[in-house]
Amino acid sequence: MSEEEKEKIKSFKDIGLCDELVAACDSLGWKAPTKIQVEAIPHALQGKDLIGLAQTGSGKTGAFALPIMHALLECHAKQEHKSAPVFFALVLSPTRELAIQISDQFKALGSGISLRCAVLVGGVDLMQQQIALAKRPHIIVGTPGRLVDHLTNTKGFSLHKLKYLVLDEADMLLNEDFEKALDDILNVIPRDRHTYLFSATMTKKVEKVQRACLRNPVKIAAATKYSTVDTLKQQYRLVPAKDKDCYLVYILTEMSGCTSMVFTRTCDATRLLSFILRNLNIRAIPISGQMTQQKRLGALNKFKSGECNVLVCTDVASRGLDIPSVDLVINYDIPTNPKVRHHLCQTLEKNAFLDYIHRVGRTARAGRSGAAISLLNQYEVEWYLQIEKLIDKKLPEYPAQDEVVKQMLESVTEAKRLSQMKLKEIGGTKRRKGGNDDGEEDIERYLGVKGKSSKKVKRK
Ligand code: AMP
Repeated sequence: MSEEEKEKIKSFKDIGLCDELVAACDSLGWKAPTKIQVEAIPHALQGKDLIGLAQTGSGKTGAFALPIMHALLECHAKQEHKSAPVFFALVLSPTRELAIQISDQFKALGSGISLRCAVLVGGVDLMQQQIALAKRPHIIVGTPGRLVDHLTNTKGFSLHKLKYLVLDEADMLLNEDFEKALDDILNVIPRDRHTYLFSATMTKKVEKVQRACLRNPVKIAAATKYSTVDTLKQQYRLVPAKDKDCYLVYILTEMSGCTSMVFTRTCDATRLLSFILRNLNIRAIPISGQMTQQKRLGALNKFKSGECNVLVCTDVASRGLDIPSVDLVINYDIPTNPKVRHHLCQTLEKNAFLDYIHRVGRTARAGRSGAAISLLNQYEVEWYLQIEKLIDKKLPEYPAQDEVVKQMLESVTEAKRLSQMKLKEIGGTKRRKGGNDDGEEDIERYLGVKGKSSKKVKRK
């Protein structure tokens, strides 16, 4: 399609979608297709395989969900009185939250056409998912490990008639962690199928799998290799390591009307920081890979509903989660990828750069503006200079008023002391009871559900 033709496209009807789906987009308030949708959907409707390089927030879920649903409706129409084919499409995602989110979009788009969609992710009762499979869903969205579990253990479940396979966040799915499960899945699905590969970043592995899995795919790039959107304001602040908490509190106080995500390196840090922030009357909630699935979803919902406006997270939340109204991303710790830290320095750097792009991609989504601030100590400056090189932008310093930060030092130090003490205490109790700890309950018990501040800590 020529640039001129693309320019002329204004509606979902123009890109060839059937009336039911045009109406579905309309009911979700989607007025016009996004760039990736304009690029991808016409090719997909012609039956081509796709490899889409698109940023989070670009509307990429719609870019693969709509053509799949279009094909499903066509199939149904051809079969006349018979019902629509089941187990028609499989969408794989690296994280549970993203899988749930993708399924929510399928359900929202498919509500008018009785679309059935099942989510198969870990951390949720197998039986419940077997019941969902027994209802013969058209679409299955899942994480690779749990999907293999069902392929092995759930009677009557097979994907031998699958028509569409989507790998979302493909670069992450192609990590070693998923290799075995992914191979197992590829071995039991038909070769004669459509395959869509979507990724926010293009890696060598994605290219390799593309060659192995896709038949003459059309490549669509709605993002350059490492781009960040222009509506995102990225800044850094050099801080002494010991004062990081204080600067964090300062920024969150300055931006108190905003929704923010604070990224830390470890699960323990998410808990400690949330304790400290809650202690200072900031409505923070942690989310990390250490928490149970139920708790992770609970935390996410509290954040989405606005009950908490600061989500303190590890990189588990940097990929794919659609939290529409994040105004600010704070890199409390710069990203590092612990899995490869000891082996390959270069890989470490590369993964850490990608993590940065994904983290800051949590804000300034779907055309909105947003800010990202990285708190750096003297050892991290070099890394940040490389980020600037990578995204080809010179990034300014965040203008914190050091005097005001200093005034906060005392109460932040006290909040930290109390939080550490409390965590130690809880840790001891948990160990004695053998309990599973994810931080959230402790915070609520300790500080009160609505984020009441501890009476012992006063802010200046
Ligand atoms: P995604 O990149 O798929 O995670 O989508 C990001 C957000 O954009 C989601 O909340 C979608 O509901 C929304 N979205 C997707 N397509 C459109 C569109 N054409 N117009 C408006 N919003 C959209």
